[in-house]
Amino acid sequence: MNLRIPGPTPVPQQVLDALSHPMVDHRGPEFSAVVKRVHERLPIFFQTKNDILSLTTAGTGGLEAAVVNVLSPGDTVLSVSIGNFGERLAKIAATFGANVVSDRYEDGEAADPARVQQALLDNPAISAVMITHNETSTGVTNDLQALAKVARDAGKLIIVDAVSSLAAIDLPVDEWDCDVVVTGSQKGWMVPPGLAFVSMSPRAWAAYEISTMPKFYFDLKEHKKSLAKGETPWTPVLPIYFGLDVALDMMLAEGLPAIVARHERIGQAARDGVKRLGCSLLAADERRASNTVTAVYPPAGVDVKTIRSGLRDEGFVVAGGQGGLSGKIFRIGHLGLVSDQDIADTLAALGRVLAKAAVPA
Ligand SMILES: *Cc1c(COP(=O)(O)O)cnc(C)c1O
Repeated sequence: MNLRIPGPTPVPQQVLDALSHPMVDHRGPEFSAVVKRVHERLPIFFQTKNDILSLTTAGTGGLEAAVVNVLSPGDTVLSVSIGNFGERLAKIAATFGANVVSDRYEDGEAADPARVQQALLDNPAISAVMITHNETSTGVTNDLQALAKVARDAGKLIIVDAVSSLAAIDLPVDEWDCDVVVTGSQKGWMVPPGLAFVSMSPRAWAAYEISTMPKFYFDLKEHKKSLAKGETPWTPVLPIYFGLDVALDMMLAEGLPAIVARHERIGQAARDGVKRLGCSLLAADERRASNTVTAVYPPAGVDVKTIRSGLRDEGFVVAGGQGGLSGKIFRIGHLGLVSDQDIADTLAALGRVLAKAAVPA
């Protein structure tokens, strides 16, 4: 099966082989060498000098870690939400007692920096801004550089969900001055689910010092202390570290600029291809359409179920819509291990499925 969903993404054979490495002592020298190699190279993809912690958890666990380490109950935070994952981050913050001010956009829209600036002016109590870089549910990439600048100029802490963008879409964490940035292993990194990576700026660590949200497993100071010894505080998902060690070799051989360019090229090919086949994009402004996932409205008269099951029969798995978009759109994932040929093959299969489904007018 060709897995063309926006995570988990396909894993190269070399990485699959590495995953079957025998278990080692997670307090021993073999594992600490792996941890050191991995953590020496993660910053290249985050483009940061900030600390990066690796946590054994899903991307959502990384988002929870971001929230509970820098916020306190009663803090007022702005949720800039353009879809399902923006809503999830807001829900996490509310669950732990933050006072969430919600700025929710229509599905398909990107966030507007001027509107964020106004929200910050209207509510000076806001101490942090939560932003999704790439909204996987709608296939829209925010102008994070502009949004972060507005938040930075207003002196707010910036928390970014970069789960489906980092290592695939350019996100220079230091240049854009993002305080807490979260990603997950099963999206752009060519490894299975199991690890989340969280970067913490000095400003984020200062917020940590006064944060009173409850934390234990995700206490990032504990993770930082252990990392200095080449360890993790709790038993980690060892196979994913072994796999990541190899995946990072491959990613460095290609180089971040080439990886980003490949995703741009393939994103464009996906959009051009679905439009050529009579589909349309959910993204309201194609300039903000995502290069890692394309959210697609089928042609009139063809339902999403028919497309997804037809593609499955052709050997391709694509995702459906989430929440209110369920049954309305399908989503093609093109991040991590994806080639021009992969997307050409997916589009060719989609063409055959649509030709078969077409009802004569
Ligand atoms: C996949 C994803 C998540 C959640 O990751 P899980 O590993 O499923 O918890 C969060 N945010 C975005 C933008 C994602 O794409």
